Order: sequence, then structure tokens, then C-alpha cells
Amino acid sequence: MSETAYQPDVSHVHQASLISSTRLTPDDSAEVRQIVLQVSEPAYYFPEGQSIGVSVPGPHPFGNKAHHRYYTLAAVHGNKAGAELEILVRRCFYIDEVSGEEYPGIASNYLCDAQPGDAVTLTGPYRSPFIIPADKTSNLLMLGVGTGIAPFRAFLRRIYEMEGGWQGQVRLYYGARTGMDMLYMNELNNDLANYYDQATFQAIQSVSKGYFGDEADALKQGVEAHGEAIWQLIQDPRTHVYLAGMDTVAAAFEAAMAGIAGSQEAWQAVRQRLVDEGRWAALTYS
Ligand SMILES: Cc1cc2nc3c(=O)[nH]c(=O)nc-3n(C[C@H](O)[C@H](O)[C@H](O)COP(=O)(O)OP(=O)(O)OC[C@H]3O[C@@H](n4cnc5c(N)ncnc54)[C@H](O)[C@@H]3O)c2cc1C
Repeated sequence: MSETAYQPDVSHVHQASLISSTRLTPDDSAEVRQIVLQVSEPAYYFPEGQSIGVSVPGPHPFGNKAHHRYYTLAAVHGNKAGAELEILVRRCFYIDEVSGEEYPGIASNYLCDAQPGDAVTLTGPYRSPFIIPADKTSNLLMLGVGTGIAPFRAFLRRIYEMEGGWQGQVRLYYGARTGMDMLYMNELNNDLANYYDQATFQAIQSVSKGYFGDEADALKQGVEAHGEAIWQLIQDPRTHVYLAGMDTVAAAFEAAMAGIAGSQEAWQAVRQRLVDEGRWAALTYS
């Protein structure tokens, strides 16, 4: 799903207040912050895994009134006043194609610079394409890079903590540039460790081997290294596949799977079957 698939829902606007902002990555790598927002409306409660919109007040370049971007709810904690929402935000920059100059992304820099007590205008929430299968013997194959970990964290919490009794295999493949870029899986922030003692859960982390490699390369290497296991899992009609993060995640997975399947055509046929049977979902953005 690309960003254009969502339309800002301005009929559902909520005011939030920033509670805390914590950097999850080290100083020498891309900045990703865990941001907690409080919405003080008693009826406000939406499950994690959905996305919210953030509307940044103008004025903006080219006369645009509002700048609106989406962020996936990594966790939601209801409280008496309303709900606390946790999002992961990567500070983004883009290069102007004409001038070649680097500009800060408006929404991500606005959020990463915000301080406790600052007001933030939210829209939505927006439905997640990730549906948890009703059958607890289903296998869940999750593949992500960067901030794409947010929907998976929500997913894992729901199936193991809130519902419980999951019997299918749950596999999380996650690629990062360095060990510390493993959001929620590094030595400082290892809250996915909560699920490591679940017999059905396994997280397979891969770090980019070359200095210039990126997180998508790392994911591709991780998938290739476990090609046989992934291939077996995908053949099982109870397996659902979920992709999340920058759209490079999809390209990396496709390339690795074409190699494992023997050809692009062989993989496309398997992938089409997953799509046709409702066992394929992607939340990717460019
Ligand atoms: C459904 C959905 C859920 C999303 N969830 C998250 C999320 O949980 N966390 C998050 O940080 N972003 C998420 N995004 C991306 C987010 O909406 C913005 O596009 C991003 O923050 C850049 O917005 P901006 O206004 O700062 O910069 P813009 O001016 O829009 O773009 C700046 C540049 O940053 C690149 N970029 C955009 N998103 C990322 C990213 N996550 N990692 C690396 N580079 C990126 C773009 O390719 C572009 O070149 C999501 C997008 C969608 C559609």
C-alpha cells in the first residue's frame, strides 16, 4: 500500500499532547524516536497497528495549508483521560531533484523536535491492512525494515499478551544497518524479548554486512540465509505473509524469493496464490 492509498480523514480530528520523546538509535546512525502522545478524550481508543495522521500547521512552502503524514501505532494504552499512543518516527530528509540540496521532511522533523507538553493535531485513525487470522494455528511470517517494526510490535503484543494461546509459527525477519538500529531488539531497547520464551516465536535479525549496505540489503541477506525454512513455511496453506516499512522492503523480499524459487516467474506464481487466498498484506511507504 502506498501513501497515496490513504486520504486524510479531516472529519476525525483529535488534539494530543506530547508526553515523551526518546531516541532509540545511536548518534552515528539515522535518528528514530519513540514518541508518546496523550489524547485526553475518554472515548478515544483505537487498537495498535492502525495508523494515525499528523497534521503539521503551516504556513508551508508553495502555499500548502497543511502538511499531513501517517504513523503506525506501535502501542496504545487506555487510561482514564483517554489513551496514550506510542509511535516510532524516523527523522527524514529529502534531496531536491532540481537544486540537489537536502531539505528536512516537514512532519518527521516537526515530531522529532517536539517537546513534552507540545500540542499535536491528529487525524484518523486509519485501518491497518494487517488482519490477525481467526485461526490460531495460522503461521505468521513478518518481514520488516526500519520503522516497519511498529505494526509487528503491535501484532505480537496482541496475539501473545492480549489474546494468548497462539499455536501457529510466528517468524519475524528484520533487517537493519547495525545492531543498535534494531529498534526494540538492541541491547538498550529489547522489549521484543518479552516474547522470546514463546515456543512458537522466533525473531531473525540481520545486520547489513557491507559498510555501504542498507537495511533492505540486510533483510535480503537474512531471507536468503533462511531460504529453505521460509520456502517451507510459505508452502503451508495456513501461512500469512506481512511486509512493513519503506518500500525497499518489498523489493528486497521479492529479489530474495525469486532466487529461492528458482526464477522470477516461479516466485510470482507463489506470490499470486498468497494474494488470491488473502494471505498477503503489505504496509509500505516511499
Ligand atoms: C500507512 C503509513 C504508515 C507509516 N508509518 C510510519 C511510521 O510508523 N514511522 C515513520 O517514521 N514513518 C511512517 N510512515 C511514513 C511517514 O508518513 C512520512 O512519509 C515520513 O515521516 C516522512 O514525512 P516528512 O513530512 O517528514 O517528509 P517528506 O517531505 O514527506 O519526505 C522525506 C523523505 O523521507 C523518506 N521517508 C519517508 N518515510 C520514511 C521512513 N519511515 N524511513 C526512512 N525514510 C523515509 C521519503 O522517501 C522522502 O524521501 C508511514 C507512512 C504510511 C503511508
